[in-house]
Amino acid sequence: MTGPDPAVTPLIIGAGVAGLALAVALGRQGLSSTVIERRPADGQVGFGFLLLPNGVQALDRIGLGGVMRDHAQRMRRLTIYDPRGRTLRDDALPADHLGLDRPFLIDRLRETATDLGARIHWRACLDAVERGDAGRVTAVRLTDGRRLPATVLVGADGVSSRVRRALFPEARRRPLHIWELVTVADAPEAAAILHGRLVKYLDRAAGRAIGMLPLDRRKVIVYLQMDHRRWAVPRPDPADRRRLARSVAFDMPALARRVIEACTFTRSHFYATGDLDPLSAVHARNTVLVGDAAHPLSPFTSQGVASAIEDAVDLARHLGPPLRRPPDAVGCPDAFTRFHADRAAIWIRRLNHGRALARDFLHPELHEHDAPIPFSA
Ligand SMILES: Cc1cc2nc3c(=O)[nH]c(=O)nc-3n(C[C@H](O)[C@H](O)[C@H](O)COP(=O)(O)OP(=O)(O)OC[C@H]3O[C@@H](n4cnc5c(N)ncnc54)[C@H](O)[C@@H]3O)c2cc1C
Repeated sequence: MTGPDPAVTPLIIGAGVAGLALAVALGRQGLSSTVIERRPADGQVGFGFLLLPNGVQALDRIGLGGVMRDHAQRMRRLTIYDPRGRTLRDDALPADHLGLDRPFLIDRLRETATDLGARIHWRACLDAVERGDAGRVTAVRLTDGRRLPATVLVGADGVSSRVRRALFPEARRRPLHIWELVTVADAPEAAAILHGRLVKYLDRAAGRAIGMLPLDRRKVIVYLQMDHRRWAVPRPDPADRRRLARSVAFDMPALARRVIEACTFTRSHFYATGDLDPLSAVHARNTVLVGDAAHPLSPFTSQGVASAIEDAVDLARHLGPPLRRPPDAVGCPDAFTRFHADRAAIWIRRLNHGRALARDFLHPELHEHDAPIPFSA
């Protein structure tokens, strides 16, 4: 006869990529977790992204790399054109650069986490944390008035993390002065032309770029990156966004115009991009940050999702053993320190690379080199 599971169940805030990947990684070690997520179970979960090899390999470690490779479109080339269609660079991409839709990734992570014993509370929004002796978090309060006790708390609540604000109120995101508009086009013809190719039209002189990433036979992720000093922020109205995208693409080659014409902007997401100076620690007592909550990166690195999965897998590796000890002996701070020691240099390298790419976009006069590869290793 087996007794009750003696392990501590961590409370994870956020069922995004990092929170769910952490629940899966802990589940693979036979550990359960509780996840709280403010959106409903069937809510909108975004469009898609380029998943870089480090993210795919981290998914391999939790048994989900294969299913992503089978579903996603492999990107074989990166081509960057100037606005007149002249090639600025054209590179072969090694294996495991994937065009992946976010809903598919989120669904597989959610299903796997649940199968492995994670309990997810939907429509549950963290409002505040309660602290006890020596600053240990003892419970969280939700916006609907509920109170949940917490022995170990993980902030996986994204770029505007409330857990980060509670731990490090002085940490402020820095604006990058570039805004980004992301949508998905239903464009079978363009998807066929783009098959396996990540294409970007880059006009640094005018502070504008249009990127295209095919996800399958119909869908193409489209993103506009714009210097906010020169391009007014579009209103949420789809017609306004459409007009703006047309004006960005009007003198560009046919492929760019065709893809923009296929975008309805009935669903699109606007980001005022920013990042955060590195935190000297991403934990305090029994609480730790992971993913965007720990280190918001500029979108130029394309590392948000891959880094979040890597973080989660690494954190679970360190956290597993202490979670099996009695709650009063949970040695989390040591595990958190090791996690931070593993990851900090990688985060700083990506942060600096993202800043260099942003500078290159905003101040081309300071750079003589060709268009740089628009993502980080
Ligand atoms: C809805 C959504 C759609 C996205 N779509 C895209 C996309 O199409 N392309 C792209 O490149 N990137 C997209 N991203 C961003 C990308 O997923 C992240 O940058 C990256 O995956 C890092 O993951 P993360 O888990 O750290 O943060 P996120 O993936 O942002 O996850 C954070 C999670 O925490 C939840 N949360 C936040 N605050 C609270 C709170 N107070 N209480 C409870 N839950 C909370 C959020 O709802 C979210 O589910 C999207 C993010 C979100 C939240």
